[in-house]
Amino acid sequence: MDTSDIGLVIDGERVAAPSTFDVINPATGEPLGGAPDCSREQLDAAMASAERAQREWREDEPGRRKALEDAANVLFANHEEIAPLLVAEQGKPLQAAKEELLGAGVWFKYYAGLELEPEVIQDDDKAYAEVVRRPMGVVAGITPWNFPVILASWKIAPALRAGNTIVVKPSPFTPLSTLKVAELLAEVLPPGVFNAVSGGDELGAWMTSHPTPRKVSFTGSVATGKKVAAAAAPDLKRVTLELGGNDPAIVLPDADVEEVAAKLFWGAFANSGQVCSAIKRVYAPRDTHDDLAEALAEQARTVRMGDGMDPESRLGPVNNRPQLDRVRELVDDAVASGGRVLAGGEGGGEGGYFFSPTIIAGLSDGARLVDEEQFGPALPVIAYEDVEDAVARANGTHFGLSGSVWSSDPERARAVADRLECGTVWINSHLALAPHQPFGGFKWSGVGVENGPWGLAGFTETQVQYQAR
Ligand code: NAD
Repeated sequence: MDTSDIGLVIDGERVAAPSTFDVINPATGEPLGGAPDCSREQLDAAMASAERAQREWREDEPGRRKALEDAANVLFANHEEIAPLLVAEQGKPLQAAKEELLGAGVWFKYYAGLELEPEVIQDDDKAYAEVVRRPMGVVAGITPWNFPVILASWKIAPALRAGNTIVVKPSPFTPLSTLKVAELLAEVLPPGVFNAVSGGDELGAWMTSHPTPRKVSFTGSVATGKKVAAAAAPDLKRVTLELGGNDPAIVLPDADVEEVAAKLFWGAFANSGQVCSAIKRVYAPRDTHDDLAEALAEQARTVRMGDGMDPESRLGPVNNRPQLDRVRELVDDAVASGGRVLAGGEGGGEGGYFFSPTIIAGLSDGARLVDEEQFGPALPVIAYEDVEDAVARANGTHFGLSGSVWSSDPERARAVADRLECGTVWINSHLALAPHQPFGGFKWSGVGVENGPWGLAGFTETQVQYQAR
């Protein structure tokens, strides 16, 4: 794939960097092309451009709406063209790549139409007072490698709608599709409103300590999120942190095993398990544990994993070598801890970064595959004695991103859902996400939320306007 025409996007222009770094196609393990390695001077130029652009952008409300609407249409019109690039660097199946790009367009469209109305908080003989929302300035957006384009849109669209400008840095594993999207959006956004830069992790660190941004919106791991919070602290930059998860799915005794198995499987294995809010542990009643584990294993044995460009592939490879090594390590540890591999358990040899969808039964809390975030295609099924015990174990971690409860009795499911300590609880579903739904984590899974009016508010400062009478 020729990537030589992909550059940084600074001040509305495509710009070459002094050097490039290799981006690997995870389906082959071979480099697919180079990505620009942004220099410090180029980052300064991007920040300065964003700062300049913000002065007019913040004043032009109708212009912002129109530009976001146009941006959505650019994504809709070009999704088929960009999708193979996303497949090549990320690994996901082509259809999923198209959906990710269309989804990004849906987010732009949603925010083009969303208002944060002023709230009247006093209207009496003393005063008229309103709470209004003001833009912050320049935002630094930093994204991970699992959904590079849509997760960037969760930041770009609300940040711009609120009157900020943004500099976005994708993961070094998946920089190209974001740069390509930025280049296309430069046709409809004023110069400097959305700049995109790529480079290694140190570029992210430069951004979080840079004096220009007033806010850092970060999606990635807990470990990096803590570094971002620390780097933002000295000049009190605002932060939104969307971090890792270890989502539990609690299957209640009355759930129909065959019926829930397929849904649980896709809640865990979509994007080859590389979803922050994927099911990462299944708690099943001891009586139905074996049947459920076997039904999940049957799904795992029959699903087709392969190169994302093969139309038969439903699952792609793990995105990168360190992540593949980590999944392998956690599965080996699970086996050493007495887990039974019912399906999969293989991969990590030569060629692409494939690891077959893996179901491991008979594990308990304390095994690393249960306690840590695997972020890959391996799922532990854990037996519980009573629901109290399952809820306690589901909550007994530093994570709190999301979770789900599975039952044929909605009231019973709701009672369990009420007790889960996480940002989203689904009932008989998992991974249902939408632009109007706030998404964020309790505890170490995050700070703040994205999406909906709550996500838009996160890109604003709150101002009281008080008029004496
Ligand atoms: P990561 O934390 O390694 O990297 C994320 C981004 O941070 C990358 O762009 C990286 O270059 C950058 N970065 C690295 N060091 C930095 C530093 N010191 N300062 C600033 N930026 C730095 O995460 P990853 O491996 O790319 O992504 C996987 C993780 O992301 C998983 O834990 C997953 O659960 C999480 N995630 C969370 C959400 C969510 O919305 N909650 C969504 C997707 C992924």
